[in-house]
Amino acid sequence: MNINSKPEEAVFRPAKRISSIGVSEILKIGAKAQALKREGRPVIILGAGEPDFDTPDHIKEAAWKAMQAGQTKYTALDGTPELKAAIRDKFSRENAVDYALDEITVATGAKQILFNAMMATLDPGDEVIIPTPYWTSYSDIVQIAEAKPVLIACNAEAGFRLQAAQLEAAITPKTRWVILNSPSNPSGAGYRAEDYRPLLDVLLKHPQVWLLVDDMYEHIVYDGFEFVTPAALEPRLKNRILTVNGVSKAYAMTGWRIGYAGGPRDLIKAMAVVQSQATSCPSSISQAASVAALNGPQDFLNERKASFQRRRDLVVAGLNAIDGLDCRVPEGAFYTFSGCAGMLGKTTPAGKRLETDTDFCAYLLEDANVAVVPGSAFGLSPFFRISYASAESELREALARITDACARLA
Ligand code: PMP
Repeated sequence: MNINSKPEEAVFRPAKRISSIGVSEILKIGAKAQALKREGRPVIILGAGEPDFDTPDHIKEAAWKAMQAGQTKYTALDGTPELKAAIRDKFSRENAVDYALDEITVATGAKQILFNAMMATLDPGDEVIIPTPYWTSYSDIVQIAEAKPVLIACNAEAGFRLQAAQLEAAITPKTRWVILNSPSNPSGAGYRAEDYRPLLDVLLKHPQVWLLVDDMYEHIVYDGFEFVTPAALEPRLKNRILTVNGVSKAYAMTGWRIGYAGGPRDLIKAMAVVQSQATSCPSSISQAASVAALNGPQDFLNERKASFQRRRDLVVAGLNAIDGLDCRVPEGAFYTFSGCAGMLGKTTPAGKRLETDTDFCAYLLEDANVAVVPGSAFGLSPFFRISYASAESELREALARITDACARLA
C-alpha cells in the first residue's frame, strides 16, 4: 500500500426515494441550540420529544436480570412470546381490544413499526392521508416508501382534529391509509369517542382505506380526558386498523427502542418480512425490560401525569398572557402548539421583519435563548411547538424570556 496515496474524490448520489427528505427541522434547531450552548450561551431547549423522567428502577432491574440470565441473543423475529403476551394483556386490559399473539408485532421503536407498515403495504402512486399538524416522520416514511402523503390542514378552531367531511373529500381510489395520532404530537389534541365516530363512519364506506392509529401518548392525558382507541370503538373495522403503541413515552424508555402494534395477521406477517431484513429482531434486553414495564406496577403513571399537567397549565397560562400568542389547551402529550399570527409583520430590535413562524422561532433562539420548533416543521403555520417535559424552574425562566422578547417586537 502506498502510504502517500490520498483517497480519490467521490461523487455521492443519494437514492431518489430519500432525496426529497431533508434533515428534520427539529434536529436542525436542536443542533443550532446545542452549538450556541457550547459557545456559552444560556440556551433553554424546549424542543425534545422525550419525558424528563428516568426509566423506573423495576424496569432497569428486569433488563439486568435478563442479561444475567443470558438473554443476550437474537430473539423471535417480531417479539418474544413473553412480550407479545404482555402486549396482548395490555391491549385487552387497557384498551378493550383483543389481539391474538400472531396479531401482535414488536419493533425497534414505534417509528420502526410505522416504517415496517408503510414499506410492507405501499407502492408508488399510493396515497396516505395525514392530518396536519403531524409528527414529521409520518410523511417522511410515506415518501421513503415511494408513496404520496396527502396532507390535510386541521386548524385550531377544529381542535386540530380531522373532520369527517375533510376525510371524505380526501379519499381517492389510491388511498391506502389514514394516519391518526391521539393525543397528538405536536398539538396535544386528543380524539374523544365522539370525535372518532364520524371518521370511522366514513371509513366503513371505503373498504380500500386502512387506518393506522398512533396511541403513543395514551397515558399522558389531562382533565379526565377519556382515551379510546378506534379498534375498540368500531369492531367492524378491526381488520383494517393497525393500533400502534410503545413504551417510550409512557415509561420514559425512549432509549430502549421498543414499539409494538396490534393488527390483522396478514399485515403483521408482511411487516415481519420488512423487519427480518432490517434489524432481525428488537433488542432482547429491551424486550425483557418492556415485559416488566407492561406487567409491572402502573401507579407511577398517575404521578407523572399530574406533574405533566402542572407544567402544561403553567405553559399554557404563560403563553396566553402574551399579546399576539394564542395557545389552545391540549388534552394530552407534553406539547403546546401555539398560534403566533399576532407576531408576524412585527420587527425585531435588530430591524428584521418577522414573516413566518420560522422567523419567529429563530428570533426566540437568537434574542431570548429559547429553542422551540416552528409549526412549518409539522405542516401547519403560523404556530410553534413547546415541549414542556422540562423542569418547572426552566419553564418559568423560558416563559419570562419569551414574554420579554415578544415585548421588544415593534
Ligand atoms: N409517534 C409519535 C407521535 C411520537 O411523538 C414518537 C416519538 N417522538 C413516536 C411515534 C416514536 O416513538 P418511538 O420510536 O420512540 O417508539
